[in-house]
Parts: sequence; C-alpha cells; structure tokens
Amino acid sequence: MAHLELSSTDIAAFTARFSGAVIGPDADEYDAARHVWNGMIDRYPALVVRPRTADDVAAAIRLAQDHDLPLAVRGGSHNVAGSGVCDTGVVIDLRELSDVVVDPSVGTIRAGGGCTWAQLDAAAAEHGLATTGGLVSTTGVGGLTLGGGIGWLVRAYGFSSDTLISAEVVTAEGKTVVASDSENADLFWALRGGGGNFGVVTGFTFQGHPVSTVLGGLMLYRGDRAAEVLAAYAEWVPEVPEEMTTLAAFLTAPPAPFVPESLQFQPAFAIVLCHVGDHDAGQAVLAPLRASCPPDADAVGPMPYRVLQGMLDGGAPHGQRNYWKSGYLSELGAGLQAELVAAAGRMPTPFDQIHLHQLGGAAATNTSGAIGHRDAAFAVNVIGAGFEPEHDAPNTAWVRETWAAVGPATSGAYVNFLAGDDTDRVRSAYGAHVWDRLRQVKRAWDPDNVFRINHNIPPTSSASARQFV
Ligand SMILES: Cc1cc2nc3c(=O)[nH]c(=O)nc-3n(C[C@H](O)[C@H](O)[C@H](O)COP(=O)(O)OP(=O)(O)OC[C@H]3O[C@@H](n4cnc5c(N)ncnc54)[C@H](O)[C@@H]3O)c2cc1C
Repeated sequence: MAHLELSSTDIAAFTARFSGAVIGPDADEYDAARHVWNGMIDRYPALVVRPRTADDVAAAIRLAQDHDLPLAVRGGSHNVAGSGVCDTGVVIDLRELSDVVVDPSVGTIRAGGGCTWAQLDAAAAEHGLATTGGLVSTTGVGGLTLGGGIGWLVRAYGFSSDTLISAEVVTAEGKTVVASDSENADLFWALRGGGGNFGVVTGFTFQGHPVSTVLGGLMLYRGDRAAEVLAAYAEWVPEVPEEMTTLAAFLTAPPAPFVPESLQFQPAFAIVLCHVGDHDAGQAVLAPLRASCPPDADAVGPMPYRVLQGMLDGGAPHGQRNYWKSGYLSELGAGLQAELVAAAGRMPTPFDQIHLHQLGGAAATNTSGAIGHRDAAFAVNVIGAGFEPEHDAPNTAWVRETWAAVGPATSGAYVNFLAGDDTDRVRSAYGAHVWDRLRQVKRAWDPDNVFRINHNIPPTSSASARQFV
C-alpha cells in the first residue's frame, strides 16, 4: 500500500497533542536527529518525534499507522543495521525517557526506555549495584536488553535480559501494559531476546547485583604473537569460573598511556576481562595465562565497574562507519584460530577488529526469555570499521572474505550483532523452537507487523501482515 503523505495540517494536529519535540525535514536539528551511530546509514524519515510520556508514544504509533508509514524505534541508536531510523516514516526517538530510579531496599534499577548504559551504570553505582550491560556505555539499554545483552557480567549474572524483572510497554494498539512473570507473561518472555518486535518499552526494571570494584582491564600483545596467545587463551579459557568474563580481540594498539610507544598504532591482540568477587581469586585464575604468555602491556587491576564500562568507549565514536558479520562458536579450534590470525593480518584499516566474546556460565544456565543458543561458548564478531566512505568497500570485502572462512565454524547468530543484509539469518539467531513461539507471540501483540523496522519476526498467519521495508 502506498504511504499517505503527512500534510502540514496532520503534523500540526499531531504536535498539538504531543508533549515532546517534533522534528521535520525543515528543522535545523533534522540532520543530527536522523543520523544514527553507524555512519554508513543515511536515511530520511518524514518525522523524528521525541516522546516524554507513554501517551506520546501511543500517539506516534497511531500517527504512523493512520498514514501507513514505516515506524522506527530509536534507543541508543547503536544498531549496526540502522534499525533506529527509517526512510519516509516516523522515528520514535526515546532519548527523553532516560530517568533511572534505584530502589536500594530491594536492589532494583528502573531505567527509562531511552537510557544509555552510561546513565544506568552511573545511577546504579551510587548504590553499589550493577546489572549486565554492553561493553560500550553509549549503547542503549533498550536495543541491547531486548536482543539479549552481552557484557562484562554476562557469565556471572546472565544476559541483560535475564536480569529484567518487568517492562512497561506501549503496544501496537497504543495500550500501555506491564509485562512480567505474573502479567502478560508471553509478552515478557518474547521481550527478553525478541528485540523491538513487540512494542515500545518505556521502562525496564532490572534486578541489580552488588558490584562495585572489580578486577578488570586489558592485557595487550604484539600482533605477531597473536597465534601463540590465542592458542594459550583457547586452552585456558574453558576452565575460567563464571565470576570471570573475557573478550579476546584482534585490533590496532591504541595510543593509551599504558601502551608502550613502540606498540602504539601497531597490530595487536588483547585479552580484556572482568572478574567479580575476590580480587586475589581473580588474579589466581589469570596467573597461568600471564605466566605462559607474559603481556607486552598489562593494565589488569582492581577498578570501579563503571570505569571498566567506559574503557572501550573511545574506540567506538558516534558516526564511525561499520559493517559486521557474526555468529556463535562452540569452541576455538586450531583451524579457526589460524583463519582468525590470517584475517587479522589482512585488515584494511586500523579501525577494523575481530572480537571473541566469551559466553557460558550464567548465560548458559539461565533459562528465561527468548534467547537462542545458550550453549554457545563464544560469539565471534568481525568488525569492518572506518571513518571515510572510501573505507566502506575494502572493509565490506574484508568482512565478507573473513566470514567465508570463519562463518562455517559458527552455528546460529546473536541477533544484536546482525547486519542489515542478514535478514535471512534472523531465524537462525533463535533456532526453530524459539522462533515459532516468537511468531505466535508476535501474532498476539502485533499481528499487522507495525514494529517491523528491526530484525523482524513476522507474525504467524501473516497473510495480512506487512513485510520489512
Ligand atoms: C559500539 C557498539 C558496541 C556494542 N557492544 C555490545 C555489547 O557489548 N553487547 C551487546 O550485547 N551488544 C552490543 N552491541 C550491539 C547492540 O546490542 C545492538 O546494536 C542494539 O540494537 C543497540 O541498542 P540501541 O538501543 O543502542 O540501538 P537502536 O538502534 O536505538 O535500537 C535498536 C533496535 O532496538 C529496538 N529498541 C531500542 N530501544 C527500544 C525500546 N525502548 N523499546 C522497543 N524497542 C526498542 C528497536 O527495534 C530498534 O530498532 C554494540 C553495538 C555497538 C555499535
């Protein structure tokens, strides 16, 4: 069906009943408002609206429906596929819904639907609390949690969505409902992994955990040691207790004060980690790896969790141009290690990286929500990154070439890392059983696929449902 144009009369009528900002193409802020984190995404919505209340959200959903316009929902705007913005439609930008309220008496953290992890972490830290959040603190709580949520606490406490107690949701019908284990339990299940397919979440309530100072930081190695260190890491890491979560990364060494000058801007391999609990116990876990592979730079030590949470922010600025391919791994076999080392040697820009996110622990044993592949040991993410349009073609070619070599070792994918051209992989992010159940819940809560600008889960019997545009 053709979209119905928004006339100036329609926009004026909408603005009159909407309490937040309404930004059209003629507004000075329009360009800033339409850009998302991934600089490769360049879309032109008809309107960007910034609700302040659940009623505002409902009004924006209605506006899009009445005009049969695409509807995008924007949290922290980090989705690499760019699903926080659409062409020609309405963007609900949730940034004004960013209050965080902590109840230290029961350890809960209630975050507005448009919060970033930096905002949540800051408020929770005041009470010595935290919950699993993303590794870059400018990422949105919304998108990350709804797709699962991998972070420094994932092995200790599970995915971010595993620590969710309830959510306030504005549905496709414009109703505000609570989803929890005791209210709308099917919706609550689907929200924990199923992404933005089921409604607009205006508030998330998490169970916080007592986390303040952790053993954290990074051990850095010259790139020509990557094969040796990755092999030692692969042998060491299966025995790591769930209090520790690690990330292994191929990257270019940053010009950070703890990095020797001779290593700065050079190809490097890093092991980044977080250990909750007793610091000496954490150091003891690390000791065999440190002994077998002494790092060229060692910045692991006790630090406030919040500091660790912001440590990687500088490497992921807004506007960086990114193209990714990713999937789950059950092990780091020798053949895979060799492919990764070879691919790292061919990185076309110094901004490219390959990440191995360690999973297992509480991420594997938890059973809540619509998370697929809980038995995965790692998520691998091949990251083509740059700042100039000229970087796009070589990066995309390198990611695809690397994926041709690495992809066959993977099984399924983490939905939050899927790229815009991964539409045919969404089902594989969940597996058949979870996928079928998600489609049924979608039919109950969004039968017309109003929320389709995302890694889309089409409703069952979708004859009348519209497809991703
Ligand atoms: C630099 C960087 C670092 C990252 N690090 C991690 C990491 O450590 N761990 C990890 O698990 N993932 C990570 N990711 C991936 C991240 O989880 C996804 O990109 C996620 O979609 C980002 O959420 P967002 O709210 O910032 O993005 P947005 O682009 O704003 O939103 C993505 C989608 O989520 C939905 N959405 C967002 N908020 C709401 C809401 N309140 N209600 C309903 N729907 C909503 C919408 O469908 C939207 O299209 C990272 C991404 C980047 C770019």
